[in-house]
Amino acid sequence: MKVHIEDLTRVFGDGDGATVAVDGIDLTIDDGEFVTLVGPSGCGKTTTLRCVAGLDRPTGGRIRFGDRDVTDRPPQQRNVALLFQDIALYPHMSVRDNMAYGLKIAGFSREERYRKVEDAAGLLQITDQLDKSPADLSGGQQQRVALGRSLVRDPAVFLFDEPMSDLDAKLKRELRPVVEQVTDRIGCPVLYVTHDQEEAMTMSDRVAVMNDGEIEQVGGPKRVYDDPRTEFVASFIGQPTTQFFDGRVADRGGEARVRIGDYEYPISRSAATLEGYLGESVRVGIRPQHLGVVRGVDGNVPATHLLDEPLGDVTHSFFETEFGEVTVVTGADFEGNREEYGIVIDPEEVMLFDPDTGVQIGT
Ligand code: ADP
Ligand code: MG
Repeated sequence: MKVHIEDLTRVFGDGDGATVAVDGIDLTIDDGEFVTLVGPSGCGKTTTLRCVAGLDRPTGGRIRFGDRDVTDRPPQQRNVALLFQDIALYPHMSVRDNMAYGLKIAGFSREERYRKVEDAAGLLQITDQLDKSPADLSGGQQQRVALGRSLVRDPAVFLFDEPMSDLDAKLKRELRPVVEQVTDRIGCPVLYVTHDQEEAMTMSDRVAVMNDGEIEQVGGPKRVYDDPRTEFVASFIGQPTTQFFDGRVADRGGEARVRIGDYEYPISRSAATLEGYLGESVRVGIRPQHLGVVRGVDGNVPATHLLDEPLGDVTHSFFETEFGEVTVVTGADFEGNREEYGIVIDPEEVMLFDPDTGVQIGT
């Protein structure tokens, strides 16, 4: 069964005080597909999820589960599992009974309940925790119990709203594959919401990048990283953040060049691909992984070394330029001294954006 979100709109309030939280979004999630809605705080992720769950009513548009239009159906008629950051386990029940509770309400026999719980606990690696009280578990273990409670119910749709935002980086990394295993096992459509692009990139079949109530791009994580449709997507996806410059594109004997201030760089494409933009202002985007530095300026943008952050396999190096601070991913052994450098650019990897629409051009 597929989940269809069609022209979904949710406006809070009216008149001058109205907030368009979700502005006509379309998204389909296939059976067994893991789709992540990723975007900054306040962009409309939770509102979208609440509309899919039936906890909020859209102002416009439809939600369909397969052929069934559920827009006007209450949550109980949707068989949706919803996991938040706050895990409300019943404190007076054992972990086992917490996980079995939904099945009890649904009328499963005690034997069936416990069999399903044992099975889920095995997958979640919490078999030895089943007789404990939730209060005796760590945050990560409690999140596993909450996952297990949803898993045994066999939901038709699985929704997550920033379930890991309270956990530290190590626990997050441990829990990610668990979430993937559990959702794989259920095999239903999964809509996962997060502001954390690393979480989105590592777990998802597709990511939907949301900004100000709209979806700017939907696609596989690699596709969205390699070929961002807009300046917003380029800046939101990828670490360290994409570096932007105001520039101009020029035709040099059929080859395109990009000018940043008084400095000119070759880019690996023909001038013909930038028809209509030659001589015009553009936004130039380059990932810090595709920037480099040379000692001495040598016709490049001059850069004064500020500091290095060695991360083991690479170093993030910070430079001051006339265009502001620039981050460059340098080699593991790079150690800047305070002399002058020149910024170099991988000509294959330069991204150009229309300064008015923010849409990538010349691809
Ligand atoms: P996100 O989950 O991406 O952080 P939300 O969906 O929670 O974003 O919110 C989107 C926008 O809608 C925000 O501007 C928020 O202030 C507004 N909003 C959300 N819920 C309500 C509400 N119940 N009443 C008024 N405004 C709301
Ligand atoms: Mg939210």
